[in-house]
Amino acid sequence: KQHFAINELENQLRKAIDENQLKLFLQPIVDLTTGKIVKCEALARWITPEGKFISPEVFIPLAEKSELIFPFGEWLINEACNAIDALKGANLDIRLAINISGRQVSDLALLNQIKNALEDHQLPGSNLSIELTESVLVESLDVVSVLLNELRGMGITVSIDDFGTGFSSLVYLKKLPIDELKIDRSFVKDIPEDDNDMEITAAIIAMAQKLKLDVVAEGVETIEQVEFLQNNNCFIVQGYYFSKPVAEDDIP
Ligand code: C2E
Ligand code: CA
Ligand code: CA
Repeated sequence: KQHFAINELENQLRKAIDENQLKLFLQPIVDLTTGKIVKCEALARWITPEGKFISPEVFIPLAEKSELIFPFGEWLINEACNAIDALKGANLDIRLAINISGRQVSDLALLNQIKNALEDHQLPGSNLSIELTESVLVESLDVVSVLLNELRGMGITVSIDDFGTGFSSLVYLKKLPIDELKIDRSFVKDIPEDDNDMEITAAIIAMAQKLKLDVVAEGVETIEQVEFLQNNNCFIVQGYYFSKPVAEDDIP
């Protein structure tokens, strides 16, 4: 029965991708020193024709388990380019960060998909950024390294997502071409109540600075968290305190 239910959802997802039922929402990433949006993160949304909301935490793993992650990836990169175009039309020339899953990274088609989409839309790589989790990196440092070098050669920046929650081998910080660390929400959410979380957050910020990496705090919901981050030299933040992910027309 379970098996049948998963197959059913998989079929629905295939249909959703084909029929363009998925939407990209954007969440601003803010520079506290200027108060301006420096970047947005693209987050996929699926609302079925019956009006049911299905979380990306459900359908992304499902896509990854099937072959659907490949057509999804193609949809995502093209949709991201459309969003960048639309923002430019509203006089906002910013980077858009997209999330890349493990199986996409080990597939060489990804690079061509990104190249083609940028070319079709006549956009520079400086409008794009990719977010990878630590679990993606443990797979094969050499393959990932080649890919990241290619992407950075095009002007695309690379962030490590959910930093601190994966296997946290620090080797890849040394070996891979990375621009930014994103401190996971789980460390931010209990600031200022949890002393350990504050120490860990401060330590990640200090390490990023020593390694000359940018650092973004995720899941910032309160003014106390903003102040803590500011006092600890983290000036780029993302979270409900500023904005939830919203439809692209709401960004300007
Ligand atoms: P993520 O990449 O860590 O994305 C951040 C998640 O935190 C988003 O959840 C966002 O809505 C949520 N968030 C942001 N600020 C706050 C805050 O202040 N408080 C709280 N409580 N939550 C906040 P969302 O959109 O449900 O996405 C969940 C995960 O699904 C993402 O985590 C990402 O791993 C995955 N995902 C979403 N879209 C895509 C996609 O297009 N491709 C891939 N591969 N994964 C995606
Ligand atoms: Ca992310
Ligand atoms: Ca994250």
